[in-house]
Amino acid sequence: MLVSAKEMLTKAKQGKYAVGQFNINNLEWTKAILQTAQENNSPVILGVSEGAGKYMCGYNTVVGMVNGMLETLKITVPVALHLDHGSYEGAYAAMDAGFSSVMFDGSHYPIDENIEKTKQIIKDASAKGVSVEAEVGAIGGEEDGVVGGGEVADPQECKMIADLGVTMLAAGIGNIHGKYPENWKGLNFDVLAKIQELTGEMPLVLHGGTGIPEDMIKKAISLGVSKINVNTECQLSFAAATRAYIEACKDLSGKGFDPRKLLNPGFEAIKKTVKEKMELFGSIGKA
Ligand SMILES: [Zn+2]
Repeated sequence: MLVSAKEMLTKAKQGKYAVGQFNINNLEWTKAILQTAQENNSPVILGVSEGAGKYMCGYNTVVGMVNGMLETLKITVPVALHLDHGSYEGAYAAMDAGFSSVMFDGSHYPIDENIEKTKQIIKDASAKGVSVEAEVGAIGGEEDGVVGGGEVADPQECKMIADLGVTMLAAGIGNIHGKYPENWKGLNFDVLAKIQELTGEMPLVLHGGTGIPEDMIKKAISLGVSKINVNTECQLSFAAATRAYIEACKDLSGKGFDPRKLLNPGFEAIKKTVKEKMELFGSIGKA
């Protein structure tokens, strides 16, 4: 059964580790992530962007697929199904379909409007036992066509949003989505420390986990980051493994064109990437 992200993130914050949010795109992605979590006894959050939700034929399809897998694969570790960068309307649609967690990305609204909308979502989500992530300070890079400028969040604004009762808080600290540019300045740990000081027990979320050096990830966890989003890295490893299979002409030999064979190297590559991230984040054995 799907659970909200609240308990797993509270435990992660206390235990000084982070739970990975791995975004899903299709059946192979979902199965790879769930199996890896179960094999490593790790809690896990499945992330679905609004674009990926549309691609997978809507939130009802996603919820049906995930719930079916939890049962068939006998998944016993805590799993949250989370809407990533949801709009106001999207958050309600995901909750209605059965998502156990939603992010309302109101970072592009003026702070007052972000607060009003976040309050309403928290009220309706808590009635359903759904966890809520809010964002302060747009996160740079591009996700589903939404381009952020790589802002650094204002710690006071973070406190205002945290005090509304969100479950977890994403704050821009120089992190960006997608690949990091050569001249990237790194994470702003002074701001992260200030946010943690003002928001106390609130689990903090780091978006754009792909390409942040390992020592920075570990330092971020030590400063209160309890959820780390990984998306691009699984896409890159899936693509590289699929490319290697085709370039070796394996699809041309025997029944190598069978999609269950063709997609298998990418599936295994996602499993490897997810396991490496769980090791780095310290979530293995914490289910
Ligand atoms: Zn993000």
